[in-house]
Amino acid sequence: MGRIVYVNGRYVPESAARVSVFDRGFLMSDAVYEVTAVLDGKLVDFDGHLERLARSLGELDMENPLDSASLLEIHRELVRLNGLDEGLVYLQVTRGVADRDFAYPQDATPTVVLFTQVKSLAESEQAGTGIRVVFVDDLRWGRRDIKTVQLLYPSMSKMEAKSRGADDAWLVQDGFVTEGTSNNAYIVKDDTIITRELSNDILHGITRAAVLRYARERQVRIEERAFTPDEARAADEAFITAASTFVMPVVSIDGATIGDGKPGPVARRLRKIYLEESRKSAV
Ligand code: PLP
Repeated sequence: MGRIVYVNGRYVPESAARVSVFDRGFLMSDAVYEVTAVLDGKLVDFDGHLERLARSLGELDMENPLDSASLLEIHRELVRLNGLDEGLVYLQVTRGVADRDFAYPQDATPTVVLFTQVKSLAESEQAGTGIRVVFVDDLRWGRRDIKTVQLLYPSMSKMEAKSRGADDAWLVQDGFVTEGTSNNAYIVKDDTIITRELSNDILHGITRAAVLRYARERQVRIEERAFTPDEARAADEAFITAASTFVMPVVSIDGATIGDGKPGPVARRLRKIYLEESRKSAV
């Protein structure tokens, strides 16, 4: 039967879901998105995702088509209709349908699409072994703080990583790591967590914000600054964060084994804390 998806106010079977070929999301990547994790049928860090959605829309002068209560209701209804216990809810808002033109249309109605994906998040084989990353030049545009659907370069980077025998890429710009293709990047040195500071150069990860908050509450030292590929290769530990992976240990960086090649204690502890706190605060 397939999933039930949400399209512009209606819950429909995925086979019947339609968006116009003139939709600016399709023609111009004129669209933003959010991905929210679901644990025990509940939404993780939901307020953070709503706030970032509002910010992304604002940066693109796009109207927010739905208020927070409606967005929560739609997420919940979709989780319920699909019987989703653990996985992801994807939300996309486009500027809407208009004849093709570079200038924004004045009167388009935003297109809103949501769908669910089943994914095992708490129990993850990869979290047990850790992942391998390689460095790739960061050739993305300059407003990575806006969560747009222009994801071709991250896709290309992910494919390059796979062709080089790794799981993912860490992107490098002007001699410093920015972030992963679809996650924020961290190293650990002498019990200090190092991750790039917020700017237009990276996406302001919702999982990043939560993980750093939980770490600070437990007196873990944190340095928010850019780090080099050499520092990364020489790190005691490394990990990534994203709604779709939570805290995921990294055990190899561009061919260099990190620590003893197994997930390190800081990453393992943060993963456990994140899971416990998320189960408590999910809505
Ligand atoms: N950085 C990039 C480029 C991403 O695409 C993502 C998630 O899609 C993240 C970081 C992590 O963000 P979040 O923790 O909000 O999922």
